[in-house]
Amino acid sequence: MIVNPLRADHRPREEFLLEVFLTNRCNLDCSYCSSRRMIDEPARRALSFGQVRRAVDVFAAYGRRKGAPQERTVFFTGGEPFLEYDVLRRSVEYIDSLPGRFRVRIATNATMLDPERVKFLAAHNVRIFVSLDGCRKAHDRHRVFRGGRASFDHIDRALRRLPRAVRSGPNFCVSATFTSETAKWLPESLDYFRDLGISVVEICPEAYEVWKPAGIARASAVLARVARERLCRRFDGGDGGPQFVFSNSSAPDNAKWSLADYRDTLLHSVSLMYDGFFYPCEAVFGGGTDAAYRIGDAERGIDRRRAEKVYAAALARIGRCAPSVGTLLTAGRYYYAVNAGLDPAEYFDNARRVNEAFDSALGGYLRAQVLHDRVTALPAFGDFAHAPRLASRRELPALRLEAAPGSDPARLRACVDHFLYSPGGRKALTIRRAAGAEEVSSALALYALSKAGRLRKELSVRTEAA
Ligand code: SF4
Repeated sequence: MIVNPLRADHRPREEFLLEVFLTNRCNLDCSYCSSRRMIDEPARRALSFGQVRRAVDVFAAYGRRKGAPQERTVFFTGGEPFLEYDVLRRSVEYIDSLPGRFRVRIATNATMLDPERVKFLAAHNVRIFVSLDGCRKAHDRHRVFRGGRASFDHIDRALRRLPRAVRSGPNFCVSATFTSETAKWLPESLDYFRDLGISVVEICPEAYEVWKPAGIARASAVLARVARERLCRRFDGGDGGPQFVFSNSSAPDNAKWSLADYRDTLLHSVSLMYDGFFYPCEAVFGGGTDAAYRIGDAERGIDRRRAEKVYAAALARIGRCAPSVGTLLTAGRYYYAVNAGLDPAEYFDNARRVNEAFDSALGGYLRAQVLHDRVTALPAFGDFAHAPRLASRRELPALRLEAAPGSDPARLRACVDHFLYSPGGRKALTIRRAAGAEEVSSALALYALSKAGRLRKELSVRTEAA
């Protein structure tokens, strides 16, 4: 599975994560499968319910100390976890019966989802991450059943059988991988996701591709275009389609993926592999069941000191190759490079270049999208369709407003409406922002720009520190 719960959730460092690799089997044969090492093993293996239950009990006690976070996540992955649905179902029920706050996540290729299973998972508040690359052309290019049959139609049918409210709900996320070849279908893929009613899509560049400059340039151009179009549609009051998250972003306010930066997170994360042993976070050991990486089992518990040692060794080995952050920096990539005869340092450098190019192509879209969604949720600024009862009849070309921590957002909005609805097509707004009023000032600027767009007026907004 390519979904990484750390990145998908942007979760805080102080959370404990147990990744359960329920089986090493999968019914698909994706060309860029990051779990290939396990699904190509000749022996087919899977965990029993008893093993999962004992491991969850051990995990529940792992790292527990006074003041330690209570929130824990159990993430079922594989292989395809729904191939072991009975174990999965009983495990979910068991985890839900435990005291304390456990969140449950499942990564799946969606081939075995059906309304009844989804209803059960929804009842237990389980979040589902579906690996689906987009429109038929993009998806079938790489994701096929064993034997080579295309999988798009099968998955599309399975998803359309689910209630639309489930597909659009916060517990249903799609993770879409694109390559230098399939990036050209991203606009079509995002339209397809919108048609399905998906609200959040994580887009990820293929983790193992060595991107050539021409491929980076082509994909960057597509990303810039979709970001611009979708942002404009949102600001215009139209449907911008699903919110999309660029999972490998190196932007400062996005989750970075570096072994060194994530020391605590990685030490709080453990994997239960399909052989019944605990291993460190997959990012540190790269998957598989090599006994050298074991850090515990259900009888003896998890050996934190051993996990520290494995982490330090991985950091020494992998960290040297990629001192920068925000790259696809995982042990999986490292071992792939070594096995493919590539220089890991050059390989990571290629990933860094890809991420920087895509970040820059996306511009401020991701941040603007988050801000837009936050603003629309605020009662004072969220109603972009609001029209004032009183607007100035006199032309007002410029307005200056003070935004302070105690400012009433509704009053600020009324001032902006009074100003924008006045005659005249070109206007200038200056917001004087006092310390602590950053959020209200940003919300006001966004509201004003969006409203001006709807009224077809040209507005320049300037903010200045008070
Ligand atoms: S769905 Fe594809 S990527 Fe995921 S485990 Fe199966 S073969 Fe690998």
